Amino acid sequence: MNIKFSSDFKNGVKKHSSINKNIQNKVDMIISDPIGLGEPLKGNFRGFYSAPVKKNFIIIFLYCYVCRKKGDNNIVLCNDCQDCLDDTIKFVAIGPHDKTYATKIKQ
Ligand SMILES: [Zn+2]
Repeated sequence: MNIKFSSDFKNGVKKHSSINKNIQNKVDMIISDPIGLGEPLKGNFRGFYSAPVKKNFIIIFLYCYVCRKKGDNNIVLCNDCQDCLDDTIKFVAIGPHDKTYATKIKQ
């Protein structure tokens, strides 16, 4: 598995250092089963997955195997998808539910 962390994600982890352990656990779980743990998003967020760390606090990630399987890689905002291996997981954003969705659009 190829794992990438966006700078938004890294900043989010720093900002929420009090729950670092929960975040780390969830990241490990996602890496071992990205499809089982992720909830697929729709609309503007098509192709992205979210997974809760705790109530109203989520991780948003991409799994390039899925970007391609759906044939969605032209509309999924996975900017360097073609440079990534199939088994790449990109951790895109982390934080409180509403704010995190807003951040992710910029990416
Ligand atoms: Zn991708």
